[in-house]
Amino acid sequence: MDIKEVIENGFCIGCGVCRGVDQTIKINLNDFGEYVADFKDSNPDKIAKASEVCPFASNSNETVLAEEFFFGQLQHDSIGRYLGLFAGYSLNDRNAGSSGGIITFIINELFENKKIDYAILVRPHIANNVRNIDFSFDVISSKLDVSSGSTSFYYPVTYSEVLEFIAKNPGRYAITGIPCFHKAIRLLKRQNPLYRDRIQYQLGLVCGQLKSTLYFEYLLRRAEVPIGKVESACFRRKDFRNRADEYFFEAATRDSNEKQHTYRISNRKIGINWGMGLFKPKACDYCDDVFAETADIAVMDGWLPQYINDGRGTSLMVIRDKYLYDMIIDGEKNGKLHLQEIGTDEIVKSQQGGLNHRRKGLAYRLHLSKGVVPSKRVKPSSKFSLSFKSEQILRLILRKTSRQAMALQTRIGSGLLIFNLIMAPLFFIYRFLQKFQRLVKAISS
Ligand SMILES: Cc1cc2nc3c(=O)[nH]c(=O)nc-3n(C[C@H](O)[C@H](O)[C@H](O)COP(=O)(O)OP(=O)(O)OC[C@H]3O[C@@H](n4cnc5c(N)ncnc54)[C@H](O)[C@@H]3O)c2cc1C
Ligand code: SF4
Ligand code: SF4
Repeated sequence: MDIKEVIENGFCIGCGVCRGVDQTIKINLNDFGEYVADFKDSNPDKIAKASEVCPFASNSNETVLAEEFFFGQLQHDSIGRYLGLFAGYSLNDRNAGSSGGIITFIINELFENKKIDYAILVRPHIANNVRNIDFSFDVISSKLDVSSGSTSFYYPVTYSEVLEFIAKNPGRYAITGIPCFHKAIRLLKRQNPLYRDRIQYQLGLVCGQLKSTLYFEYLLRRAEVPIGKVESACFRRKDFRNRADEYFFEAATRDSNEKQHTYRISNRKIGINWGMGLFKPKACDYCDDVFAETADIAVMDGWLPQYINDGRGTSLMVIRDKYLYDMIIDGEKNGKLHLQEIGTDEIVKSQQGGLNHRRKGLAYRLHLSKGVVPSKRVKPSSKFSLSFKSEQILRLILRKTSRQAMALQTRIGSGLLIFNLIMAPLFFIYRFLQKFQRLVKAISS
């Protein structure tokens, strides 16, 4: 597959790494609020070269890449390579972070120990759009700025501009990213020694799915934020009194008298769940890397029974870089981290939903696919129960319909009436199916 086929068949995730190869490729937001590459000014030679770094075009899978970079480490079928597995949190950075503040802690330590000159992370920015805000990758060069990028941004982001910065500015970099973005960076490092030398630490977030800008607009409307400027927003505001998987979406506006208004909605009240996959790019339904297998560390939410009741949050970590491994161990010795070693079964258990979708679910989606599909480690199969197959088909319909329904809703006006009218029958069937599955499980156990 080349990037032309990736883009034409809707598999582009907008990572922007192909633009690191060919500057004539542009990364634009489409009508559904997803970043997509545009190669119309490129040429066949450049397209071939750019295809080598695309996570959905390249024939090198995550297992092959991890073997190249983490050779000799322990290996697990789902988790990939690893040096150590831990649960824990940073005493200083936990409150700022999404879960245990581990990524924030690592970036702080890398600056402190003079291991990096720059870090690339996601931060809010003033933007030229209807809400006057977006979230994008930014380059920082000081510890002072690290926590301004903490938490998870469920929003489309692209490396296209920061790669240009790296190319122009010599130095040592750490970069945050979701699994497919890290794969693209590994492929770029393979092709271009400049990036191999400069990008020293790839800090991975486990990823269940990305969201389009329409998700942000949906959250704003659910939180009853009036149409117009938004001053700040947070997708994961912690609620210390509640469980770690109960958090708020929060946004602030300012009125003509300079008075600030804060709007919040709890994730439990949003009325949709992650399994439905609303506002998700198509690429996420053709992804088999849950644990950022090519990143130097993968960090995820510790939503396991032993940690879930602590609303301040706990991270789980899969560590693949020796320096980061030592940093985490030292962090505990120096009293900066609370740390506990855990097993592969606990790590897998924490992501069971995402793994089911990206193993069995992917096998069935590949079986259903008619056109060209990216090469995957999972083989197509249809040997599943009728209720499982119905759930997968319904998720495909939910994803496609939600983006069209919300795009229409934003064109027509404020509120969510149109969106809700279109989606209601699908939500009803999905919830009915889930209840039925739970009943069957209860009877058979
Ligand atoms: C789109 C997305 C999907 C996710 N899906 C899952 C999941 O299914 N299961 C799970 O357990 N965890 C998932 N996570 C990871 C989880 O939400 C936390 O980010 C993770 O536990 C790290 O928490 P922390 O407190 O250690 O990090 P923090 O200290 O909060 O630091 C997070 C760092 O990541 C950067 N960052 C945030 N969003 C992005 C982004 N979109 N792209 C690149 N960098 C970013 C921030 O700028 C910050 O530097 C997801 C995260 C994202 C962004
Ligand atoms: S490299 Fe990234 S932006 Fe470019 S075509 Fe592939 S997925 Fe899209
Ligand atoms: S689910 Fe996979 S394809 Fe989608 S954003 Fe996450 S890592 Fe990338």
